[in-house]
Amino acid sequence: MATKLKEVDVVVVGLGWTGGILSKELAEAGLKVVALERGAMRSTEKDYSVPNIRDELRYVVRHDLMQNTARDTITVRNNPSQEALPMRRLGSFLPGEVVGGSAVHWSGHTWRWTDMEFKVRSEYEQRYGKNFIPADMTIQDWGISYDELEPYYDKFEYTAAISGKAGNIKGEIQPGGNPFEAPRAREYPLPPLTPILASEMFTNAAKNAGYHPFPRPSANASRAYTNPDGSKFGACQYCGYCQRFGCEANAKGSPHITVIPIALKNPNFELRTHSWVTKVLKDSDGKKVTGVTYTNILNGEEFEQPAGMVLLCAYAINNVHLMLLSGIGEPYDPVAQKGVIGRNYCYQTGAGATLFFEGRHFNPFMNAGGSNATIDDFNISWGFDRGPHNFVGAYNVSGGFNTVLPIGYRPVPRGTPQWGKAWKAATAKWYQAAMVINASGSVMANRYNCYDLDPTYRNAFGQPLMRMTFDYQPNEHRMGEHAAKTINNIAKSMNPTRLNEATARTLPWTVVPYQSTHNTGGTIMGTNPRESALNKYLQSWDCHNLFVVGANVFPHNASYNPTGPVGAFAYWTADAIKTYVKNPGLLVAA
Ligand SMILES: Cc1cc2nc3c(=O)[nH]c(=O)nc-3n(C[C@H](O)[C@H](O)[C@H](O)COP(=O)(O)OP(=O)(O)OC[C@H]3O[C@@H](n4cnc5c(N)ncnc54)[C@H](O)[C@@H]3O)c2cc1C
Ligand code: SF4
Repeated sequence: MATKLKEVDVVVVGLGWTGGILSKELAEAGLKVVALERGAMRSTEKDYSVPNIRDELRYVVRHDLMQNTARDTITVRNNPSQEALPMRRLGSFLPGEVVGGSAVHWSGHTWRWTDMEFKVRSEYEQRYGKNFIPADMTIQDWGISYDELEPYYDKFEYTAAISGKAGNIKGEIQPGGNPFEAPRAREYPLPPLTPILASEMFTNAAKNAGYHPFPRPSANASRAYTNPDGSKFGACQYCGYCQRFGCEANAKGSPHITVIPIALKNPNFELRTHSWVTKVLKDSDGKKVTGVTYTNILNGEEFEQPAGMVLLCAYAINNVHLMLLSGIGEPYDPVAQKGVIGRNYCYQTGAGATLFFEGRHFNPFMNAGGSNATIDDFNISWGFDRGPHNFVGAYNVSGGFNTVLPIGYRPVPRGTPQWGKAWKAATAKWYQAAMVINASGSVMANRYNCYDLDPTYRNAFGQPLMRMTFDYQPNEHRMGEHAAKTINNIAKSMNPTRLNEATARTLPWTVVPYQSTHNTGGTIMGTNPRESALNKYLQSWDCHNLFVVGANVFPHNASYNPTGPVGAFAYWTADAIKTYVKNPGLLVAA
């Protein structure tokens, strides 16, 4: 029997970037906020300092900062004709499970998604006609514009200490930045990271090929910084242990060193760790939520936390799971193409080449999370005509390093034996002498790529696991071929001693190797309740005092990493809630 607690104004489920931003903003607005986080409190001083943080076994192999799949996981399959099986060990993606969420161990690449995404269907239809978009590609406009989100991108970039070079300030193209980006109000808060040899070589080759390389914007502070809230950052140490590790120098823009400590100082805010939310509760007519139930995972005690408002901030996958478990909104049916919860799950695709230069020393053990140079010539530029290549979407290409693990990274030319003396000799020879060029590509929504509740498998709380059905479609394969050609042309122009060429992905998606924690969709935003779960303020169409924040709101996935818009949307929703509390109800007419 759950113990019923005293009602609060707001309950926040999950305390990563989205939960941290909303907790801080709403506590400052005078609301009584309780955050329920399933993970433990961790800090730089106790947990992320050297030498203990330099532990590949603990953090990379044993996933110390990440979701415990023995308690809850998902089942996966490529298409509806298969039986889905549980992901028993984390692989393709690595969601977080500590205070600070996934952004404790993210890399920090921070992008602004533009109207190319937000108006995707109308833009492609206008340029290429309605028939260019395949019938089973369920892309749609998002119901928001870049101009509306711009001030919130700016706010997030200044909070998270992004190092970068603006390419377009108020419509004026800036030398050295990304000339394709949409206009921004001002420069990044910090100058770009110091380039490394691999990113410089890529930059030169890309320029020679006529492309427009620029330093990748990233939440790795290029120098000491105090953000507008007074949070202090040290300078990045180029420590080589960024992705999958906490930052020893407080140089990585993360909520546990910014918004969360500020919220914790506010008497309006309370954090309860080890608190696993199992369900969102509704009132008798289902038009409002009344709170949540949760279990203390240290002792199994169950609680009901009544609240005037519930904010789901539990990461893209878990937010959708909680909506399905709570019976809020109509579950999506891909056959009838009805319902909205679970719809438009998307992931990302890519291709990569490894270049070997005999005698060069790239020092791959020394880099930041975002030590890359990037080109967007095939990404957010309409100058690249997709028509002849017959695909919707885009890819960016980068050269450099994004955390190559000192032990796990063993580049060898193709054809090298995979074990024994010859492998050992090759790994010793090439460790210092290799660099990579990668492409990250968008994935468009497809009617059969979706989530629902698994009919067979259950989690530690006896609830159905969430089932993910996903595979790449011919559209993504065509884009992958184009990306691989671009990479190989740049790579060959650099005259490497040996080259592992990029190849387009042809095999089905698998959950086993790590790819990216960039899962999107499932409770998407939009302009009407027939095609979306949430309105443009990330407010549930069904229960107006429920907001669902994270990449689960994206109707499709872009080539860029998601946290730029995820952070911007959290600030955007915080402002919307400040308006909402004055006059509760739907902020957009259904
Ligand atoms: C290895 C890695 C590298 C990445 N690199 C980048 C990058 O370079 N650029 C980029 O843009 N993005 C990157 N990301 C993605 C980025 O980390 C996420 O987009 C972002 O952190 C999501 O924020 P969030 O608040 O939505 O969720 P999270 O930060 O995941 O926070 C959700 C929180 O909710 C808690 N929670 C979940 N379920 C429950 C429950 N039932 N009850 C209570 N609490 C719950 C979790 O424990 C977690 O703390 C990376 C992610 C990973 C894992
Ligand atoms: S690379 Fe820089 S930002 Fe990343 S963990 Fe190391 S010191 Fe921190």
